[in-house]
Amino acid sequence: MSFFIHLECAMCGKILNADKIHNLCPDCSKPLLARYDLEAAAKAVTPKEIAGREETLWRYREVLPIRDSKFQLCLGEGFTPLIKATRLSRELNFEKLYIKDEGINPTNSFKARGLSVAASRAYELGVKAFSIPSAGNAAGALSAYAALAGIPCHVFMPQDVPVPFIAECRALGAEVKLVEGLISDAGKIAAKEVAQYDRFDVSTLKEPYRLEGKKTLGYEVAEQMGWYLPDVIIYPTGGGTGLVGMWKAFDEMEQMGWISSKRPRMVTVQSEGCAPMVRAFEQNTEFAEPWAGAATIADGLRVPAAVGDFLILRTLRESNGTAIAVPDETLIQTANQIGRTQGLFVSPESAATLVAFNSLREQSWIKEDETVVLFSTGSGHKYAHLWGK
Ligand SMILES: *Cc1c(COP(=O)(O)O)cnc(C)c1O
Repeated sequence: MSFFIHLECAMCGKILNADKIHNLCPDCSKPLLARYDLEAAAKAVTPKEIAGREETLWRYREVLPIRDSKFQLCLGEGFTPLIKATRLSRELNFEKLYIKDEGINPTNSFKARGLSVAASRAYELGVKAFSIPSAGNAAGALSAYAALAGIPCHVFMPQDVPVPFIAECRALGAEVKLVEGLISDAGKIAAKEVAQYDRFDVSTLKEPYRLEGKKTLGYEVAEQMGWYLPDVIIYPTGGGTGLVGMWKAFDEMEQMGWISSKRPRMVTVQSEGCAPMVRAFEQNTEFAEPWAGAATIADGLRVPAAVGDFLILRTLRESNGTAIAVPDETLIQTANQIGRTQGLFVSPESAATLVAFNSLREQSWIKEDETVVLFSTGSGHKYAHLWGK
């Protein structure tokens, strides 16, 4: 069922046993990538066969790392609609604009993808307790899948994270610790307890399988566009798993003969209040310096340092993409524009993609006849305080 063969370090290329528990590369402390026997997978399944399968991300099980389906923790994640944004397009006078609506995932964000697959694989490998530092949505998603598996879950969030994020984790049975500072500070405290209490660290890209869940975004965009890819993908970037994951998915699909070598230009959007990837992209460096004093209302983008920084930057460069920072002041009004034209209540991170689109179009970086996909990564419900009463 799964054609998972081994793990490979994204930096030094070291190969590791697929069926042991791993976090980062033991040699260079960089992220590990799951590798598959794609030749065998291509013989085992075709896009046509996939078309008739369940409408969750598990439809791509041959290229996911779970060996035995009884460990799949499923709440209906994935296979979200790719919406042709007709009324928004008309208002903007731009024809081929699509929105991938990730807000309808379990726990209302695309974090469900990564954490469904990561929790399932950890469950399969016999992990006894989870630990996760989070800016908000990742904690809620992990709490849900941990509950489904009956595995204790410890979440660490900045103390100023809005109430709905905290309430959600508590309601889903997780142990919540609020930490002074940012997600990076939460990460430090979580790491200390991981060593002390033998928990499994599910931080972004510090284990190999959240990326596998997020890569299904790439499989879905391709499938939903008839096994073609758009010209431009705009992605609100924090830790970057979705962006890096999609890029990996495109290579896998090409190797299986499902798509051609044509790739979209990948765009990272961040907030002006926390834009480490934008700065590193502009300075043409391999890694990103941590962003001091990170502040933005888009909680998912409040990530001052990313373990996968070099993978994000590699993706942007290989794809002839770009990185752009947008001001927080534009986000709510832009979310409202998506809301009143498309009927979607989107999070500020999602709104950031439309702000970026407008700006790149103005610069003629996006051409009038191109096909563009915006990622609405979460619904607005957990951010309702930003709208006030
Ligand atoms: C986490 C998050 C992001 C950023 O995703 P990464 O994969 O960490 O880059 C964007 N939007 C929302 C709503 C999020 O929760």
